[in-house]
Order: sequence, then structure tokens, then C-alpha cells
Amino acid sequence: MDFSTPIGSLSGVGKKRCECFYNLGIHNVEDLLYHFPRAYQNRGNILPLAMTPDGTVGAFMLTVATKPQTFTLKNRKQITKFVAFDESGKCTLTFFNQPFIKDIFHVGDEFRFYGKLSVKYNTRELSSPSYEPVIPGKKLQSLIPVYPLTEGLTQMFVKSVTELAFNTLEFGNYDFPDIFRTETTEKMGLMNLKDALREIHFPTDIEKVKKARERFVFEELYAFALGLSMSKKYKKDGNAIPMEDTDISEFLSILPYSLTRAQDRSVKEILSDMSNESRKPMSRLLSGDVGSGKTVCAAIALYVAVKNNTQSAFMAPTEILATQHYNDLAPIFEKLGIKTALITGATTASTKKKIYESVSAGDTKVVIGTHALLNEKLEFEKLGLVITDEQHRFGVRQRSALADKTKKDGYEPHVLVMSATPIPRTLALILYGDLDISALDELPPGRKPVDTFLVDESYRERLNGFIRKNAQNNQVYIVCPMVDESDDEEEALLPFDFTSEDVEKKEKINLRSAVALAETLKNETFPDLPIGLIHGKMRSSEKDRVMRDFEQNKIKILVSTTVIEVGVNVPNAVLMVIENAERFGLSQLHQLRGRVGRGKDKSYCVLVSSSDSEKAKKRLKVMCSTNDGYKIAEADLEQRGPGDFFPNNKGDARQSGGIKFRFASLCDMELLKKAFDEAEAVLNDDRTLSNPENKGAFRYMQRLFLRLRNS
Ligand code: ADP
Ligand code: MG
Repeated sequence: MDFSTPIGSLSGVGKKRCECFYNLGIHNVEDLLYHFPRAYQNRGNILPLAMTPDGTVGAFMLTVATKPQTFTLKNRKQITKFVAFDESGKCTLTFFNQPFIKDIFHVGDEFRFYGKLSVKYNTRELSSPSYEPVIPGKKLQSLIPVYPLTEGLTQMFVKSVTELAFNTLEFGNYDFPDIFRTETTEKMGLMNLKDALREIHFPTDIEKVKKARERFVFEELYAFALGLSMSKKYKKDGNAIPMEDTDISEFLSILPYSLTRAQDRSVKEILSDMSNESRKPMSRLLSGDVGSGKTVCAAIALYVAVKNNTQSAFMAPTEILATQHYNDLAPIFEKLGIKTALITGATTASTKKKIYESVSAGDTKVVIGTHALLNEKLEFEKLGLVITDEQHRFGVRQRSALADKTKKDGYEPHVLVMSATPIPRTLALILYGDLDISALDELPPGRKPVDTFLVDESYRERLNGFIRKNAQNNQVYIVCPMVDESDDEEEALLPFDFTSEDVEKKEKINLRSAVALAETLKNETFPDLPIGLIHGKMRSSEKDRVMRDFEQNKIKILVSTTVIEVGVNVPNAVLMVIENAERFGLSQLHQLRGRVGRGKDKSYCVLVSSSDSEKAKKRLKVMCSTNDGYKIAEADLEQRGPGDFFPNNKGDARQSGGIKFRFASLCDMELLKKAFDEAEAVLNDDRTLSNPENKGAFRYMQRLFLRLRNS
């Protein structure tokens, strides 16, 4: 037996159970051993019968006092009962439809039971508890794993198959394929794979389980780091469409402004990638704060691609944004005689057809759109450049799907990714490990900072007055957090606490829902003002209608969830009110605030929060003290860890391209850095991971990325 042994060939796993394991994603022994308990029952703490209150779940060490008797009830259920005792008292044990029980429990034998004790009028009962015989010389495990299950599998069964698999490997002196080389294990003080697996499934104490768990967290981060570092370092070069140094002065001359220094630098970096003699395709991230002028940089790249007789595609995450880009760019390109088209979900079939024809004939040079661009029928004659406005919505998969559109003629287009989330450089290196980075860390001149205030409920009256005032000549956004309804009821376990956020989750939160707030404003607070509502559950045609009305100043106050976070541009909006601001990450607040301060009028942002938490207040005050997205991102990273920067299923699950790890949570920047350092060190010695010592790492890394891409 080894890690690749199919689950179905283990004894006891027949066809039916095999299917059940498949449902859990378990196909072989490795999967089985990496199927970790979700909690541990603590059976080490033995409770005395007489002192234990009704309803307690726990372990009892009892001696059988009477012979089990089986009765048949009226409903034809069979019930088997007997009495057992400890030093403090006695208790009735009850089992249903398990008459064979009588052959297990003999008078005088001692067992450890685990279950819920009921106490009624001084009689105690344990109904269908789990049980283990006390055998002299054999120590009972005090921590019992509780596995995630699926229909058709029981705890007992998963536990016994896992035990069987592990023991067979161990007795067979199997060489567990450790992903880490010995050096790493020693340096990081990690448990080796065999010991860690043993501790996870057959724990001796909770501290060791934690230690084992740490190993698996680091293992996953390390594999992640290896994959990203490898793809960046050893990317094959040589098959991009050759482009020449291009004179962009004609383009620059029609801009009503000159480029900022940061734009100039970034454009040079982009153009140098595109005309690189090695013909290695560009794969670059252009990161820049809201309003830093990314669009014009993108436009220059598009222009250069066109000047080199190729076409280019520009993909945005939402219809609103794609349309906006088109409206910004099409007039400029038209002046330059460059044919430009827009494709979104709203484009009619007949228009689409015309565009497809024009694109495949090479007439239309620049195509802007949503993921509608991924449609198979869109074929380029010669695609030279792909730009995705990422905004954390697209995953790697879509990015390469678009780039793949020209692979058939052997060329690979250049790829530019834009992100409006200022990301601290340390983290950007990790998040976008496979990309080179240009940062627009400077805003165009003349921007007025948005004045930001933090207020609590006692300011409500004054706030309403302020809203009314700003809605008079201008417009106002009011943003509410999304209401999270996931509130899983956990069974009464004594869980080993891997995550400690549950307390916060459990507290009943009184969130201002966008829908309810819009109603109140309409009916009570501002009955005389036109009020709009937009949220993620609305149809996209409806959303577009509301956004258009807002753009055209037909709506004065727009109540919304975070759907407006992404790149919306209404310069007449001058006030951003954010309810329950403590529920948002700093970077997200910064994005939201970026919706105002876009026009000639002075703009404001009001953060409403009644949270008493000092930590929350400190966080929100960062917003009041600076408008610099990079500073805010640093603070966010420092205070909340890098988790918030990952597109973890926050938006639309289909579009999020989220990164889902099994063990790692990406909350620990230090650990993430260590993983990258370690990966770097290993790759320096063995760039293709082909040393026998690194074979396990290579395999694990491949599997991890397969899973991440498919999730
Ligand atoms: P973002 O980086 O958020 O996409 P945009 O590209 O939409 O920012 O630019 C925001 C605004 O700044 C636009 O109205 C654009 O015309 C303007 N802008 C861009 N670059 C400059 C510049 N160098 N000088 C003055 N205004 C600029
Ligand atoms: Mg933009």
C-alpha cells in the first residue's frame, strides 16, 4: 500500500462506501489521510454521574451492574436497557434496535461511555452513547476525532478505515512522501509528515495536534509559494508577437493633460515588456489607487498593440465598468482612426454577430467588454494584447482563457492586469507572484482629499441634515453591509477550537439592511427626495437602470450594498455615508470612499459606527487621517492580516476566482513570507524540483494548483 492506493481497495470499502468517499473528494489513501477531523471530542475528562447536571455531554467511566434486557415497544422498536454505575451513583443505559448489545455488556465489565446525560427525578439515563471497553494495559484515547461525513459513512467507519490505512503504511515501513526537505523541517521546527498525520488522527494531546496542524498549514503555503515562484521564474519565453518601440507622441498630444511621473514610469515598463527582444510575453500587474489614472496607461498599451498591427482586448468585471471604459476610450481611439467595439451581456445578438465578423476580419482593433469576451465565437485575427481590469473579480482561469484565444497560431498575447486595490508591495509579490508589478503610487495633480468623519448613532439627526444639504445640488451614496445569514448550529461537541471568531459571528448583529433603510428614507426621512436602491440580488438590467438614473441625477440618494464598490464614476456625487462601517475592511472602505471626490465639488465621507471595540475605532480612524490608498492598505495588512486582500468568495462566487486553501487561512503574513523565503531557497538549489528530495513537493504543488484553479 502507498499514498496512491485507491480507496476502494481498502478492506471494508465496498462499492457503495467507495462512492461515499468520492463524494468527500477522497479517492486514495493520501486523500483519506488528509481528510482531517473537524473537531475532537474530549473524552479524557471523566464526569461523575451524581454531580453532572441534566443535558451535559461528556464521558463517563461505568461498570455494568445488570444484564441487558431487550423489550419490543408498541411501535415495534426494540429497546435494550441495563444499569451501570460509578463511585458516585448509577444510571440506565438505553440502546434502540441493537439487540446484539447484550453480547457486548457483561456484568462487572467497565466501559467508557460518551453521550448526553439526562437527569429526571433523580433517575439518570444515557441514550445510545458511544462506548469503548476498558482493557487493562491499554490506554484509552482521550481525544476522539470527529470527521466531516457524508451520507452513508459513520464516524466509527471513517475512523477505523483511517486507522487501518495508517497502520498498514507504518508497519510496512512506508516512506511517507514529505514535501519538506530535512533542512526545512529542522529550521522551521516542523513535525515530520508521519508523526503529524498520526497526531491528527490519533492525538495524544491537544498541543501536539496544534503542532501537527501548523505543519499542514505551512505545507500548503509552501506549496502555494513554490507554484507561484516557479511560474514566475521559469516562464518560457519567446513566442509573443514581436512589437517595435513605438512613438506614442501622437497619442499623448490628444490628451488634455500630461502624464504623472508614476504614469510615465509605468508606461515605459509596459512598453519595454511589449517590445522585449526575447519576445517573452508581458505579464504585468498595474496596481494603482482609485483615480490614479490606470485607464490612460491601459489605453497607451492598446494603442501600441494596434500600431504593431495587432488587435487587443480589454476585459472588465462588470457591465457598468466595461461600458465606462468604452465611453472613455472609444472617442480617443476614433480620433486616431482605430476601430473600437463593446461587447457585454446586454449587446444584442445581431450587433454581436457584426462585431465578431469585424474582429475576425481584423477590422476592429480594440474590443472592450465583460467576460462576454470569452465567448468562443469571438475570434481575433491577431490578438497582441489582453488587458483585464481585475478588481479582484477574475481568477487566473479567465485571465488565461482570454489569452488562449490566439494560441492556435502559435503566438501568445501580452497580458496586462489592472488592480484598483492598492496592495502593499510585500503582499503584491505574493498575490501576483507570477506577474511583474508597476505601481501608480501618485495621484494626478489637483485632487482634493475627501474629508472623512467617524460618527456614532447620536449624530443621526445631524447626519440626516448633512445628507439633505448635499442632496440639494449634488448626490449622495449610502452604503450598508451585506447581511450574512450563515449561522450554522453546531452540535454539542467539546470542540477543539481551531477558529476563535465564532463568538463574534454568533452575536446577534443589528445591521442596517439596504432594503429596509431605503424604505425608511423614502417614507419617513426624505419623502420629498428621489431615492434609489441597488443591491447584488437585483437583475443586472435593473441595476443598470438604477445606475443610469443616478448618473443622470434623477436619483439623489442611492442606497446600496457594496455592489457600487467597483469603479463607478459619478462626479456629481459628493457624500459617501457608510453604515456599520466597522463591518468593512479598510481597503474596502477606501474603495467605497473613492466613489466621491471625482468632480469639482468638495466631497465628504461619513463612517457611521456604534461599535465599542477600541480596535475597530482605531481602524476606522486611519480612514479619517489619510487618503493614501497604499498607507491604508499597509494599515489593513498590519491590523487584519492579508486575508482581506484575497478574493475569497466575497463577490459573486462564479466570478470571484477565489483562493480556497484547506488548512492555511492566509491570516499570517509572517508565515506567508517564510513560506515564500523557503520556496525561494529550495528553487535556487533545484529550479525544476526534480531532486528526489523535492519530488513530493512537486507533486503536492501540482495537486494544490489543480484544486485552486478548479475551485
Ligand atoms: P483609475 O486608476 O481609478 O482607473 P482613471 O483612469 O479612471 O483612474 O482616471 C481618473 C481620472 O483622472 C480620469 O478622469 C482621467 O481623465 C484623469 N487623469 C488621468 N491621468 C491624469 C493626469 N496625468 N493628469 C490629470 N488627470 C488625469
Ligand atoms: Mg478605473
